[in-house]
Amino acid sequence: MARFIFITGGVVSSLGKGLMAASLGALLQARGYKVRIRKFDPYLNVDPGTMSPYQHGEVYVTDDGAETDLDLGHYERFTGVSARQSDNITSGRVYQDIIAKERRGDYLGATVQVIPHVTDAIKDFALADQSGEDGDLDFILCEIGGTVGDIESLPFMEAIRQLRNELEPMQTLSVHVTLVPYIAAAGELKTKPTQHSVRELASLGIKPDILLCRAEHELPEGERRKIAQFCNVRPEAVIQALDAPSIYSVPLQYHREGLDSEVLRGFGITDAPDPDLSAWEDVTDRYFHPEGEVTIGVVGKYVGLQDAYKSLNEALIHGGMANRTKVHIKWIDAEIFEGEESELAAALEPLHGILVPGGFGERGSEGKIASVRFARERKVPFFGICLGMQMACVESARSSGHGSASSTEFGETEEPVVGIITEWMSEEGLETREEGGDLGGTMRLGAYDAALSGNSLVSTIYGGETTISERHRHRYEVNAAYIPAMEKDGLVFSGMSPDGLLPEIVERPDHPWFVGVQFHPELKSRPFDPHPLFAGFIHAALEQSRLV
Ligand code: GLN
Repeated sequence: MARFIFITGGVVSSLGKGLMAASLGALLQARGYKVRIRKFDPYLNVDPGTMSPYQHGEVYVTDDGAETDLDLGHYERFTGVSARQSDNITSGRVYQDIIAKERRGDYLGATVQVIPHVTDAIKDFALADQSGEDGDLDFILCEIGGTVGDIESLPFMEAIRQLRNELEPMQTLSVHVTLVPYIAAAGELKTKPTQHSVRELASLGIKPDILLCRAEHELPEGERRKIAQFCNVRPEAVIQALDAPSIYSVPLQYHREGLDSEVLRGFGITDAPDPDLSAWEDVTDRYFHPEGEVTIGVVGKYVGLQDAYKSLNEALIHGGMANRTKVHIKWIDAEIFEGEESELAAALEPLHGILVPGGFGERGSEGKIASVRFARERKVPFFGICLGMQMACVESARSSGHGSASSTEFGETEEPVVGIITEWMSEEGLETREEGGDLGGTMRLGAYDAALSGNSLVSTIYGGETTISERHRHRYEVNAAYIPAMEKDGLVFSGMSPDGLLPEIVERPDHPWFVGVQFHPELKSRPFDPHPLFAGFIHAALEQSRLV
């Protein structure tokens, strides 16, 4: 059976628990262990699929079609292990299952309660599926969302407490992430919030084994001892976690602070192999020592909150790492292009690449279409993702004479170049939204194959592959009825669903680099394995930077 590491957070939110879990997973993996990381989200949404990206950041989609918390993206990027539906649970999902069972009469008349029914469901989730991609898992890391003391996380804490009692003594470990704030006026780091947070955790029956202390300044030895003494852990188990210059330096930094050795010690493991951190050394070397730089404009809607495009941001950086290039990202609100033409040129002219990302709804769509046109006419490398590809198709249809071309997502249109699948091919049996039905989980979600045409830019980019698998999250599809018109305009449909019906990739041979994809390649990019489309896009942007 696997060993379990429970990761909780205290004092404040936004301490980077997700990154910490991802980094610890990566460090254990570097020692040859098989790991999987799970996220427990105490909120009542069944999944984050219906949450606004402004509130919650991006929705991360797994191969098996789950809409999950963005922390799962960190886990995948850092460990390379593909996340699954079974790696993210919310209170909402637990209650949904329990209430469904109660309505069916499965509880045979019993009173259904938080303890044991909710806590049992949480424990079952933690213990489920202990198989890795290649053999049994050595470690399962469980990150609990929220902060100790939150009312809604109590059942999760209780489930951990019970598990720590029920499993073998050396089979679980509790890591608590806290903040040691620096009070500038006093010139001191303060340990009291950590003490309080650990006391709160202890009052729930969980004694932490390791404290990971986020701090802006070095933790002096005296403070470390003080924390150890008051919080009942060994001084070596108080690990300082200083702000890192890049998220990709975090695994190496935590290793230097002794986090992975302390975790192994906590489990009584004495024969662990030394870690092979060469992949992380290479990644950080590429990041910190670039040989070129480019500026990419992302013309989108949720530009006010970078977490809304988390994976995209990271994938662009990975594309930069592949080319040893520093990528500056300019987040541009598409709506500003809906007025003066000069505004558009002023914002887009200095860019070496233009990316129109995924999104929902009409707002900013004309600005996105205008950006596609600019990129096309000025021959600036262009990358359209999901809605971005749909807008590239609308732009093409319009320029081939279908002046009112649009997407039915934005309202009724005479020329539905993009439409809901049922509107033009319900017979395909694809998941579609019923009018007025539930919004949750009703999209084309998860991994689908696409067949690539030979002799295309994308087949070169994918190293000659003829079939690829990428993750999807969308309701609307490019309408195949308009393909001939768009082809006449010079757009090439170089990737189609294997049955040849749904456009998956478009490109323009008469352009230095113009690619639109219906899927989300950013979800599968990893620092040590940058996605080829992002590597290709940044390469093209680098060439462009030499021209301007
Ligand atoms: N709104 C579009 C659709 O639902 C695109 C979705 C996306 O970009 N993820 O098809």
